[in-house]
Amino acid sequence: MREELPPSPCLDGLQRPLRDLRISVTDRCNLRCTYCMPREVFGQAFVFLRHADLLSFEEILRVARQGIALGVRKIRLSGGEPLLRHGIERLVEMLAGLRTGDGQPIELAMTSNGTLLAKKARALKDAGLTRLNISLDALDETVFHRMSGSAMPLAVVLDGIAAAQAAGLAPLKVNTVIRRGINEGEILPLARHFRHTGIILRFIEFMDVGLTNGWRLDEVVTASDILAQIDAEYPLRPINPRYAGEVAKRWAFTDGGGEIGVIASVTQAFCHECGRLRLSTDGKLYTCLFASEGVDLRTLLRAHGDDAELRQRIAQVWRGRGDRYSQLRHAMTEVPARKIEMSYIGG
Ligand code: SAM
Ligand code: SF4
Ligand code: SF4
Repeated sequence: MREELPPSPCLDGLQRPLRDLRISVTDRCNLRCTYCMPREVFGQAFVFLRHADLLSFEEILRVARQGIALGVRKIRLSGGEPLLRHGIERLVEMLAGLRTGDGQPIELAMTSNGTLLAKKARALKDAGLTRLNISLDALDETVFHRMSGSAMPLAVVLDGIAAAQAAGLAPLKVNTVIRRGINEGEILPLARHFRHTGIILRFIEFMDVGLTNGWRLDEVVTASDILAQIDAEYPLRPINPRYAGEVAKRWAFTDGGGEIGVIASVTQAFCHECGRLRLSTDGKLYTCLFASEGVDLRTLLRAHGDDAELRQRIAQVWRGRGDRYSQLRHAMTEVPARKIEMSYIGG
């Protein structure tokens, strides 16, 4: 006999509801950010997934639909670089058509490096994308090349940001990872550049995701150091979160120049309110950014068409979840032997 479906919302082992589904649509990228896909590892010889291994758009839609039935209210497309996935606008359109049980639309977001946005921003907006985060770590061309591990002209990303703004993808957020000794000097120029633009700049602490980025705690510039630097030049005051469980702490420029955010994933863990489930490019579910193993859904998706079983499998994974890596990080004496790369499960 089949197990009963869990009541909605679906709670994990620490009573956290499933709210957020991150879907990685490709493990490939046209940049090689040193903190994510360092070229020494993700070089010519690296073997990416074959096309047949990727979930199709129809398969992604099926997982998303069952996630929504279990409480998901926000879907974020990520990667790798999501805009490299051929026909991504069609997937956005398919997902934008989904509704909750009581007929409400869900929030449909994307995180992108911005390099293909000048071409695609309008189509994404028309397809129903509601939110967009663009990653940009420097305004100095040389520092940008060092951080992105590529010779991509900075202007390509800046043009992408302008195109997204012109297409009405608002509020636009720009995400910046700060790595000590490399782009610390970019904190103030970035803050200055995005003041009074309506774009929300958010600083993310450099995290120990995966095993390839050579993470060291002393390379993390903490959120409080970043805030102190900005506050000394442009005074800030804290503002309330938009919703319970918002990971970025919000600060407003006291002179009305807009707001910034800091995501202190390392120094102020927010695991206690993390409702995020991740779907890898090849259809595995991961319950934490720092998980070592995923649960395969692709076999089930390809075996037959039973959506009730799919929903049960997702619910089972969520109910068995007890992850709180960031809260435990400091107590750990050893690095786990296996950690999954962010470009594979999506940031
Ligand atoms: N390629 C897209 C992009 O860069 O926006 C989407 C995928 S990327 C993995 C998603 C986000 O993860 C980016 O904002 C990136 O800066 C962030 N990220 C990747 N590695 C990180 C790390 N080690 N620490 C903190 N953030 C990281
Ligand atoms: Fe690519 Fe994004 Fe990772 Fe940079 S952070 S290498 S743009 S996936
Ligand atoms: Fe969520 Fe895992 Fe990050 Fe904690 S460490 S906030 S559980 S993804």
